[in-house]
Amino acid sequence: MPDATFETGLTKAAVERRRVVIVGGGLAGLAAASALASRGLAVTVLESRPRLGGRASSIIDRESGETIDNCQHVAMGCCTSFRHFCEAVGCADLFETQRELFFVGPPGNAKVVRFASSSWPAPLHLASSFLRMPWFSRAEKLKIAIGLRALARDHSRADCSFQDWLNRQRQPEAVQRRFWHLVLVSALSESLDRISFRHARKVFVDGFLANRNGWQVSIPTVPLDDVYEFRIATTLRESGVQIRLKAGVKRLQIVEGCVTGVELRDGSQVAGDDFVLAVPHYLVQALLPEQLAGVAEVAAVDRLETAPIASVHLWYDQPLTELPHATFVDRLSQWMFNRTVLSDARSATTRDGVHADGEVGCRLQVVISAARDLSTMSEQEVIAKVNQELRQIWPERHEARLLSGRMITEHRAVFSPLPGVDEHRPIQQSPIPNLQFAGDWTRTGWPATMESAVRSGYLAAENVLDRVGQPENMVPADLPAARLYRLLFS
Ligand SMILES: Cc1cc2nc3c(=O)[nH]c(=O)nc-3n(C[C@H](O)[C@H](O)[C@H](O)COP(=O)(O)OP(=O)(O)OC[C@H]3O[C@@H](n4cnc5c(N)ncnc54)[C@H](O)[C@@H]3O)c2cc1C
Repeated sequence: MPDATFETGLTKAAVERRRVVIVGGGLAGLAAASALASRGLAVTVLESRPRLGGRASSIIDRESGETIDNCQHVAMGCCTSFRHFCEAVGCADLFETQRELFFVGPPGNAKVVRFASSSWPAPLHLASSFLRMPWFSRAEKLKIAIGLRALARDHSRADCSFQDWLNRQRQPEAVQRRFWHLVLVSALSESLDRISFRHARKVFVDGFLANRNGWQVSIPTVPLDDVYEFRIATTLRESGVQIRLKAGVKRLQIVEGCVTGVELRDGSQVAGDDFVLAVPHYLVQALLPEQLAGVAEVAAVDRLETAPIASVHLWYDQPLTELPHATFVDRLSQWMFNRTVLSDARSATTRDGVHADGEVGCRLQVVISAARDLSTMSEQEVIAKVNQELRQIWPERHEARLLSGRMITEHRAVFSPLPGVDEHRPIQQSPIPNLQFAGDWTRTGWPATMESAVRSGYLAAENVLDRVGQPENMVPADLPAARLYRLLFS
């Protein structure tokens, strides 16, 4: 039986014999696996589904035969751990960094504004793009600038709802909706009243103010399954990680305060020395014995609330737009990704919008975060509404025919970043020394994102390495804050 106490100074051979069992093949589990395998430990990943990637996944659309993602997953430039992970597992080339975004104004003023960094240093690098947005009056632009300055200067530790904070700053309702909500709903998938001040501040400071590259988004050029199933799984297997799919874990086996193994749903058992539990937060309790599930910091996980995200996939017989992506102001549709333009030659369509069989077409994916309001609409109603909005934005393409559409809703997509949420997020080291928690929901300082998942996996790996006497920092540094930003706001 493994020793539950910290073990230091193991020989290289002993480290290599050290068996780490990771439950869950989402980003958190895979990041822990990559980090530990690269340091010579024997890693097994147990994943209940027939594929890796967890909440970042693809399905085959029966009607078109195409592989489509459950939802577009993008990472911002400030997501340094996610980028490090992609490089470590050799999939960074499957992402394309977008150095410009496109904002489409509200109905009646649907002008497209190109949003890109100027030569000015952060935090002024995006000012000229922002000033070009004609749907804000001069007074509104001034209000937003004052609000951003107040946000960067507010280092208070107390948390409150971001809506309360905006109200205290006297930010007008239209500005709250068209600026603050627009940015935050895509980043945090919640409405302003359900977003904590701290998480909102992090998005604006890390993403838009402190470093000139923080806001750039990285988008996969292939379906997510190609990233996880083919590239990451292959790299991990080559580095010695044993990946077992359809290996759902029923419970952890704990003897005398130490995890000795896991029991799978088929009744078989897998023994190990260290364990990483990397399942979504709402499944954690069910896998733990009562005495551990009842410990205050573990029980608190059940208080995390969740938010839904919907993605609407639309197939047209000809291109509706050449833009690779666009963010919409004041519409049900929030963010459009033109999968035909974004996909590379390996997928069914090419950059010119020409299908592999020579037919010209276009597939758009529209994301609707914090999608609670959609529960009163049928799938067909949502598709019709999104189609109508896109046609209003690009009326010149009226001859384009909608061939088909489908909506995928993930009801528990992310945990809600409510005020005080971080108190319900446990650290990676569980009360049991040889058990680590990992997942976007653990305490990483980040909202529910791929970045948070990877960070949690790296932090869990750090704890395991500590136990074998090989302490190491696995989490890469954040993007540095620009000198002008530090001068103004530190
Ligand atoms: C619709 C949607 C859109 C999103 N968009 C973005 C985005 O644009 N950018 C971004 O950064 N983030 C986005 N996210 C969030 C991001 O997907 C998650 O933060 C991240 O993938 C979480 O990774 P994880 O490893 O913590 O958890 P998960 O991905 O949930 O992985 C947990 C794994 O554990 C497995 N598992 C569960 N129970 C068991 C068991 N008993 N035995 C074995 N295995 C088990 C699951 O099958 C799963 O594979 C989005 C999420 C959704 C749902």
